[in-house]
Amino acid sequence: MKYFRLAPIVLLAAGMALAQTPAAHTPDDSKPTPVAAIKSFDPSAIDKTADPCVDFYQYACGNWMKNNPVPADQVRWVRSFSQLVERNRYLLWEDLEAAAKDPKTPLQRQYGDFYAACMDTAAVDKAGLTPIEPAWEIIARLNDPKQIASVVSDLENHGAPDGFFDFGVAQDEKDSSRQIADLSQDGLSLPDRDYYIVDSEHFKQIRAEYIDHMKKMFTLAGDTADEAANEAAAVMKIETAMATASMSRTELRQPKNTYHIYTIAELDNLSPEFDWTTYFWSTGIGHFQTLNVETPEYFKALSGLIQSEPLASWKSYLRWHVLHGEAQYLPKAFYDANFDFFQRTLAGQKEPAPRWKICTSMTDRALGEAVGQDWVKQHFPPAAKDSTERLIAALEKSLNDDIKTLPWMSEDTKKAAEAKLAMMRQKVGYPDKWRDYSSIKVDRTELIENVEHAAVYQRNYNYAKLGKPVDEKEWGMTPPTVNAYYDPSFNDINFPAGILQPPFFDPNADPAVNFGGIGVVIGHEMTHGFDDQGSQFDGKGNLNDWWTAADHKAFNARSSCVADEYSGFVAAPAQGSAPAEHLNGRLTLGENTADNGGLRIAYTALEATLAEEGKSLEEKIDGYTEAQRYFLSFAQVWCQNQTDAVARQMILVDPHSPGRWRVDGTVQNFPAFAQAFGCKKGQPMYPVNSCRVW
Ligand SMILES: [Zn+2]
Repeated sequence: MKYFRLAPIVLLAAGMALAQTPAAHTPDDSKPTPVAAIKSFDPSAIDKTADPCVDFYQYACGNWMKNNPVPADQVRWVRSFSQLVERNRYLLWEDLEAAAKDPKTPLQRQYGDFYAACMDTAAVDKAGLTPIEPAWEIIARLNDPKQIASVVSDLENHGAPDGFFDFGVAQDEKDSSRQIADLSQDGLSLPDRDYYIVDSEHFKQIRAEYIDHMKKMFTLAGDTADEAANEAAAVMKIETAMATASMSRTELRQPKNTYHIYTIAELDNLSPEFDWTTYFWSTGIGHFQTLNVETPEYFKALSGLIQSEPLASWKSYLRWHVLHGEAQYLPKAFYDANFDFFQRTLAGQKEPAPRWKICTSMTDRALGEAVGQDWVKQHFPPAAKDSTERLIAALEKSLNDDIKTLPWMSEDTKKAAEAKLAMMRQKVGYPDKWRDYSSIKVDRTELIENVEHAAVYQRNYNYAKLGKPVDEKEWGMTPPTVNAYYDPSFNDINFPAGILQPPFFDPNADPAVNFGGIGVVIGHEMTHGFDDQGSQFDGKGNLNDWWTAADHKAFNARSSCVADEYSGFVAAPAQGSAPAEHLNGRLTLGENTADNGGLRIAYTALEATLAEEGKSLEEKIDGYTEAQRYFLSFAQVWCQNQTDAVARQMILVDPHSPGRWRVDGTVQNFPAFAQAFGCKKGQPMYPVNSCRVW
C-alpha cells in the first residue's frame, strides 16, 4: 500500500529523488563533507580520442566515466543528477542538524525531532521489534478468511505496510475535474513481476536467494528454522500467483488498459472473497458509488487466491509485508539483512551509505513540505524562478513553431495540438501554499511510530480529496528533489527548486549550456504532453481523442520507428553467465519521445534566443561553438556509471533509457547535431534513416 498517490505522472529520471537513495543503519563517524556546486559544462569530461560522429556519448563523457566509478554506497552514479542529489542532501542535512540541536520554530522542532529519532540508532536497537508488535497483533487476530479485508484496513489505519494492493484517490482520466476512488495491483516485494515468472537461470537464482532472505528475516524475528521455511514458501507462492495475474509495466502505460469504472456491487462480483464494503468503510475514506479498478484481472485472481490458500499462508504474507516494509527502521540485524538482499544482491551496491544520508532522505520523504520551506529560502532565489519562467516561455514558443511546421500532421490536428500546448500549465520551485503537517505527532525517540504517523497523514490527505475539486497548485515532489515531471491529468509541467541549480541551470553559464541543460529538461517535460501516452489526453487532462484518423496513423508509424530504434540498443552487455539484454523500446517509448522532442525544441529555442541577442551558434567559447556546447552540455547531464545488477533491473522497471542511449539515441535523429560536429551521412550519429515524431 502506498499512501501518497497522484495520477500516473511521468518523471524526468528514475531513482533520483533524495528520498529514494538507499542508505545505512550503521552509525557512522564519517562526518558529512560539504559538496560544492556542480560544474555545468566540463571540458575535462571529454574523451578527445573518441569520434563524436561515431559515439557522441563516449566523446562527451568518456573521461568522466573513466575517472568516476560508482561510489561504494551507490548503484548508479550520474554526473549531473547524483552529484546534485548529494549536494542538495548535504545542504538539507545542515538544516536538519541545526533544527535537531536548536530549533527556532515549531516546524523546525518537528522535523528536527524526526531527524534525531532516525539518527538515534541506540534507541532503534533497544526498541527491537516492539514498535511493530501492534501490527503483528492485528494479524494474529485473523481467524477467518472473511476477516482479511478488515485486517488489511486495520494495518493501514495504523500506518503499517501490508502488500495486497494500492488504494487511493486519483483524478478520473475521462473527467479530470473529478477525484475518484482508484484501486490497483501492488502486492509484490521483488522489483517487477518478471522476477517471479521469467524462466531463466538468472531469475531462478534470484528467487532462491529471495527465499533465503525471507527465511533469514523470519528467523531474526523469532521463528524456528522450520517455521521460517514454511512462512517463506507461503509468501513466495502467493506473490508468484499475484505476479502472474499482474499487468506488465508496458501494458500499464496504456491508459485504456487501466480504466474500468465499477460499482462496488460489480467489484464484489469480480472479487467476491475480499470483503470490499468492510474494507472501504474501515479505511474512513467516506462514501462513494463507483471506482476505477485499474487491473481487474489482478483482483479476480486475488479473490481466487484467498479461497485457495490456507489462512496460515495469509498470516505469513501479512507478517512478511510488515517485516519487509519496516526493515529499514528496525535494529541493525534487520537493516543489514534487508540491505544484503535488496541492495547488494539485486542492485550491486557494495556498502550501505552513512546514517546521516538515510535520515536526511527519510525526513524529506515524510515531511518534505516542512523541510522544503526553510531550504528554498536559502537555495532558491527569486531570480532563479524568473529565469526559469523565461526559459519555459522560450521553449513553449519553440514547440508551438515546431507543431506548425510538422511535415506529417494535418492542419486540424495541428490546431488541436496548439490548443493543448496553450493550456499547459507550469509550476516552478515550490508550492504557493505549504501543507499543514501540525497533526503529525513526532517523538524524538520513536522512529517507526513517526514514520507510521506520517504515512497515515499522507493517506488521509489523499483520501480527503474524494469528491472534492482538484487543487491545481498541488505538488507531487518535495522542493529539494532533483527531478521534474509532467502530469497528464493536470496537463502541467513541474520543476522543483532542487533541479533548478547547476549543472542544470547556472546563472553564470552561456545560453548554450543552460539550454542544453535545463532547456532540454523543460522541452522533455513539454513533449510528454504529446508522447504516445500524453497525446491521448486533451488540454483539460481528459482521455479524449483529438486526432484525425490519418494523423493517428502517421503518429503511430513514427512512434514505432522510435520504439524499434531503442529496442536495438544493448542496455546490459553480457557478463559472466548473464546474456546481453536489450532495452524495451515500448516501455521506454514515452521517455525516448520526450528526449528527442526536448533536444530539438531546446535547440531551436537557443537559436532564437541567440539571434535576439545578435549572436550566432557559430560563436566559439573555449574552442567549442555554441552549437557544440549545447550538445555537449546536454550529453554531460547523462554521463554515468552503474553496476551490472542495476542495469539489468532497470531494463525491467525503468521507463527511461540509460545515459548512453539518452544521448546517442537522440542525437542520431537530429541533423543539427551532425551539422555542429561535421558528421558525414552514414556515420553512426548521422544515419541514412532516422526517426522523428515531434
Ligand atoms: Zn520523462
